[in-house]
Amino acid sequence: MDTKLLADLLFPNVTKTPDDMEALFPERNLPEGAIVSRMAPSPTGFVHLGNLVQGLTSERLCHQSGGPLFLRVEDTDAKREVPGAVSVLIEALRHYNILFDEGATIDGDAGDYGPYRQRQRVDIYHVYAKQLVLQGEAYPCFCTEEELAAIHEQQSAEKANFGYFGKWAIWRDRPIEDIRAELDAGHPWVLRFRSTGSIEHKIPFNDLIKGHLELTENDIDHVLLKSDGIPTYHFAHAVDDHLMRTTHVVRGDEWLPSLPFHLQLFRSLGFKPPKYLHIGPLMKMDGDSKRKLSKRKDPELALTYYRASGFPVQSVYEYLMTVLNSNFEDWRRANPDAPIDDFKFSYKKMNPAGALFDEMKLRDVSKNVISRMDADRVLAEVLDFAKDYDVELYDHLAADKTYARSILAIGRGGKKPRKDFAVFTDVRPYLDFFYDDWFRVTDEYPENFAKSDVVAALNGFLDTFDIADDINVWFDKIKAIADKLGYASDMKAFRENPEAYRGNVADISMFLRIAVTGRQNSPDMYAVMQVLGAERVKTRVRAMLGKLGAL
Ligand code: GLU
Repeated sequence: MDTKLLADLLFPNVTKTPDDMEALFPERNLPEGAIVSRMAPSPTGFVHLGNLVQGLTSERLCHQSGGPLFLRVEDTDAKREVPGAVSVLIEALRHYNILFDEGATIDGDAGDYGPYRQRQRVDIYHVYAKQLVLQGEAYPCFCTEEELAAIHEQQSAEKANFGYFGKWAIWRDRPIEDIRAELDAGHPWVLRFRSTGSIEHKIPFNDLIKGHLELTENDIDHVLLKSDGIPTYHFAHAVDDHLMRTTHVVRGDEWLPSLPFHLQLFRSLGFKPPKYLHIGPLMKMDGDSKRKLSKRKDPELALTYYRASGFPVQSVYEYLMTVLNSNFEDWRRANPDAPIDDFKFSYKKMNPAGALFDEMKLRDVSKNVISRMDADRVLAEVLDFAKDYDVELYDHLAADKTYARSILAIGRGGKKPRKDFAVFTDVRPYLDFFYDDWFRVTDEYPENFAKSDVVAALNGFLDTFDIADDINVWFDKIKAIADKLGYASDMKAFRENPEAYRGNVADISMFLRIAVTGRQNSPDMYAVMQVLGAERVKTRVRAMLGKLGAL
């Protein structure tokens, strides 16, 4: 076969050569050891946790090593493309602090290795397609859908492997006259790879996450260019990752079966393959067994789920770190206040089988993350959440930010900060009693206490309450009320001889707590009253006395 003739027949307009491409996209000038990686999503509009896991892994590898992370839009399958998907993706990742140094932007491109949208790179792919034809490693195939279906049926009948290979690859060795006749007739064609692999052979391969693998060689003459001249993902990614000087490809392990074909492509194209990191899927427990997170069954797969559920960005991020790097939790325990970027992320600590997603664990991580934030930060985050998901809460907090801040400051900042919130939807039920229009008495006084005791305690409180008291003076007054009513002011004494008392000082506090907060459980009463202010506290206690029929 005269491959030069064939190459010119198929690609008459391609005049550039791979050398021209090399000159256009030279090696990057980077420090030793710098990792260049990318996200290469298809613009389907659905951004899922797997994208974030992949993005986060690539981002850490690049930025910790001083290399760039870029975004390439793999839009070769126009049918799956959703308008606006690129901006949805960029915004979603920006939200999680995954920032690209170059690549596709919302309305264009930034960087020297573009264009970064594959449909705009068709001329580049054709240079390499022509080169492969010239080398005798690619050929046109004119099979119609019907012919391919017939091959499939025949393979099924013969119990042969499926695919276009060996004797089934009917255009693989056709004479140039046949090809010319088809071209002259204007029949559509695809360009296929001429595989020399055999499924009898294994190729050794070292994946940076999965470790040493033995993969079966590829014997299929896969499609490189579709009949409209647009490449398949396989062909496009090999050309792009080479020309964009990608050093490390991080992607889902659903691509592992295609890897032998990809390695063949890199070899035929004369490219050095990048290093590969294939990430296992995110799994979850379903009853007693593990299964992959599914788009259909699991809302938590969508990234939008986390913001709408009220998880702060930092919680999701820290949680993913805990599932991605087995040593992260120890690091966090040893460095509770360090910025997360101080953690040295390593692909060596990734689980080859994939990570187990556990929402309860995410909530635990989130409680810790929020407990470490200062009140200003919590307020800012809650406002940001409430603006979109709970306008009433937003209005309450924003009406008096100093008041809101002091509510959120309760129990914060010490060695053992309160861990009240896993998600920002926990905030409203936690603090609603601080707002008079939301305040309701929801808990009853337990029936084992005499109503007259409650009334006497509340009156005793009203008689002695002074908002200016420090916490010790305040508590001494509560104890005095306890003593006066026959309740133990000393818990030890009470435990030793409970029968001798009507109750204890904690019960007296509870009488007050129900009156002031409407419930039996609340943050520290002294702190709560300091925030509520004397007037509100007294009004509520009086209202309770009224309710109890004692005013
Ligand atoms: N477009 C492919 C995907 O969305 C990219 C795979 C890769 O990163 O190479 O899965």
